[in-house]
Amino acid sequence: MLSAYRIEKYSQEFETKTPQEIIEWAVDRFSPYIAMSSSFQTQSMPLLHMATRVYPDLPIFFIDTGYHLWETLMFREKLAAEWSLKIVDLYRASRWDVFVRQRARTLPGEDPNLCCYLHKVQPMQEALRGYKAWISGIRRDQTSVRAKAKFLELQKDGLLKINPLLNWTKADVNRYIEENNLPKHPLYEKGYRSVGCAPCTIAIGVNDDERSGRWAGRGKVECGLHTDMFTKKDLTELSQEFQTEVRD
Ligand code: SF4
Repeated sequence: MLSAYRIEKYSQEFETKTPQEIIEWAVDRFSPYIAMSSSFQTQSMPLLHMATRVYPDLPIFFIDTGYHLWETLMFREKLAAEWSLKIVDLYRASRWDVFVRQRARTLPGEDPNLCCYLHKVQPMQEALRGYKAWISGIRRDQTSVRAKAKFLELQKDGLLKINPLLNWTKADVNRYIEENNLPKHPLYEKGYRSVGCAPCTIAIGVNDDERSGRWAGRGKVECGLHTDMFTKKDLTELSQEFQTEVRD
């Protein structure tokens, strides 16, 4: 276990390291207790490409919310086969089945925080139990929340979150994709610059902010995986964030 001091020191050192160097450090230190998450959109390709070249057996968590666009599922399927990815699909806990089925069409619109918590945050929390480190692809230029992130972030339960692409920009991502001839999400050219679940994603213009097509007009910019929501294990701790009253 790294001390808080060492984590802060490495985090500062990583400001000038390449993503590949950070991934190599992480794999060297934490494998096999390390995993990464991917949403299989165009901007996810560089990290997926780099990380699986450093560690081909790296578990790749894909959160299957049940609301994904068909094109995302097909893209994930194609890449899994072509790149021999070790994908682990994550699903909502079955104890929520009745609750969600009764609201399947309305929940994303009526209570997106609760919907994201049940479909994304809880499954990821569960999947990461037993792991020491989690590689994520967030960048500082994406949202105001991500702008404050550090390269290494220790979670309350001891899990270390590693963000190798933090200092990359949209231009860096595009350059890496072109240089390495990486595939793009099938809807990218149709304006889906950032792709999430179908009820919460719209196409945007070429010059629009990359994530402006996510939860557009709902005052939400993050699903909760990269906010305080992820560190809360007890649903009742989060009740203020939900419009729906739920008890775990
Ligand atoms: S992105 Fe939308 S549909 Fe997907 S889990 Fe969040 S609120 Fe639900």
